[in-house]
Amino acid sequence: MSLPREYYLNLVEFRLQRCIIYSIIRFTNNKSCRDSHEGSMDRGGCTAIIGGSSPPRSQYSVKKYFTQVPKSTLASQSNSQSNKKENTNHSEVSLDSSQKFDLSSLKFDPGERTSILSYHPNHRDVIRRAYLLNGPCQPRLLVQEYPQTYIFGSMRRFNHEWFDDIYHDWLEYSVSKDVVYCLYCYLFKDHNTNQGGGETFSTIGFKSWNKKGGLDKHIGLPNSIHNQSKKKCQDLLQQRRSIQFAFERQSNQLKHEYYMRLSASVDVVRLLISRGFAFRGHDESKSSLSRGNFLEILSWYAKKCDKIHDYVLKHAPINDQMTSPTIQKDIVSACKIETVKVILEELNGDYFALLVDESFDVSRKEQMAIILRYIGRMGFVMERLIVIVHVEDTSASSLKEAIFNLLAQHSLSPSSVRGQCYDGASNMQGEINGHKMLIRRESKSAHSIHCFAHQLQLTLVGVSKKCVEVGKLVVLISNIFNVLGSSFKRMDNL
Ligand SMILES: [Zn+2]
Repeated sequence: MSLPREYYLNLVEFRLQRCIIYSIIRFTNNKSCRDSHEGSMDRGGCTAIIGGSSPPRSQYSVKKYFTQVPKSTLASQSNSQSNKKENTNHSEVSLDSSQKFDLSSLKFDPGERTSILSYHPNHRDVIRRAYLLNGPCQPRLLVQEYPQTYIFGSMRRFNHEWFDDIYHDWLEYSVSKDVVYCLYCYLFKDHNTNQGGGETFSTIGFKSWNKKGGLDKHIGLPNSIHNQSKKKCQDLLQQRRSIQFAFERQSNQLKHEYYMRLSASVDVVRLLISRGFAFRGHDESKSSLSRGNFLEILSWYAKKCDKIHDYVLKHAPINDQMTSPTIQKDIVSACKIETVKVILEELNGDYFALLVDESFDVSRKEQMAIILRYIGRMGFVMERLIVIVHVEDTSASSLKEAIFNLLAQHSLSPSSVRGQCYDGASNMQGEINGHKMLIRRESKSAHSIHCFAHQLQLTLVGVSKKCVEVGKLVVLISNIFNVLGSSFKRMDNL
C-alpha cells in the first residue's frame, strides 16, 4: 500500500521548496510574538547577525559597542514618522509614544530621495541626522563605468577623484541619474533662494563634468548658502554632543554603573543572538515564573557574576535598567550594523554575487533575503546574509529597487555585481523584464545561475514522477520516520 501521489509530491515540495530562507524567516519570527507585535524591525537585525555569523574579531570587542551606543541611540531618535508604508518591518524606533519612523524607507541614492520639505516638520531634523550619520553617498566605480556625456565636442564623465578633494564631506554621486549633489544643501538649503546654483545641487543635480570650478563656485564665500547649510548640519550634530557633555558631567561612579549595566545587557544580547533564541516572554512581570530569555539569563548572570550583581535589575535605578525592549532592539541594531560593517570590510569593494530569494513569514508578510557571495581575504568563498527586507510586491522592478537601495546604503556599486542566483520564478528568470535582466542592464557581467537547491527540488519532483520506485522509497522512509517518531518507546528501541 502507498499513500496518494499528491501526498508524496506535497511532502517533497514541502521539505525542499522553502530551503534555508524560509527556515530563517520562520525562526526569527518565532523568536518572539511580542517582538513582532511591537514592531518587527529587529527581525531583520537579528537575522542579519545570524546570517553574518563570522566570529567577532578582537578589534570588535564589546567595548566598541559602547562607543557605538550614542550613535545607535541617535539613529533611533532619527526615526520619527513613517512617511511611507513600505518596509514597515524595519528599523521602527519610537521618537515618542505616538510616533514612529522607518529608517530603512529612506533612499540613499541622492537621485531618488524625496525633498526634505515633503516630510513632516517634526521629523525633518531626525531624518537629516540620519543622512548625516550615514555620510554622503559616494559609490566608487571603475572609471569606465561612469556614463559618458557629450559636452562641447568631447565625451566627458564624472571623476570619482573628486570624492577625495575638498568636496569629500558633501559631494554625492547618483548612480541612477549620473549627476552629483550636495548633501548639505539637500538637507538645509532654502528652496526660495537662487544662490549657490539654485536647485542644481539640492534637487536637479550637477553634471557639467567639464566645469569642476562649478563645485568651487557652489561652495562660495564664507557666508554662502552652502556654508550656511554646512553650519546648520554641524549644529544639528552638536545636539548629540551636548548630550554627551551632560553625560560627562556625571560622576565616575555613575558612569561605571551605567557601563556595567550596559555591558551585562550586551553580553546577554550577544548570547541570544548567537544561539538564535527569543528575547521576550509572554509575561515579563516580576511575579512571572518565566520572564523571557533576556531577563531570565540576565538574572542568572547577575547571581553568578559578582561584578555585575550590584548594578543590574533590582539594584539598578528604575529609569536606568538597560533592559527595556527598546534598549534590547537598540543593542541588536548596533550588533547588526557592526556585523554588516565587518562583512563589507572583508568584501573591500571587490566584486560580489547576489543570492536573493523571497518568501512570506508567519505574519504573511513577503520578505526578501539578500546574501552576498564573494571571495574573502583568505581566498575562500564567503556567503553572508546581509539583510531581510520586506517587499510589498514581488515584481522584478520592486525587488530591484529594494536591492539597489541596500547597495547604495552601503556604497556598493551595482556594476560590481558579477553573479546572480535566484529560484526559477518568472519574475526572477524572465528573459525580458525579469529581475536578472534588470540587474544585467546595470552590470553586463552579472551572470545568472538558477539556484542549485531549487534545481534539486525540481529534479526530485521530476524523477519521482518518472520513476515509481524512487517515489515509493521516499514515501517508505517518510512513513518509517512518522511511525518511529510518534512513540518514544519505539525511539528508545532504536
Ligand atoms: Zn552645498
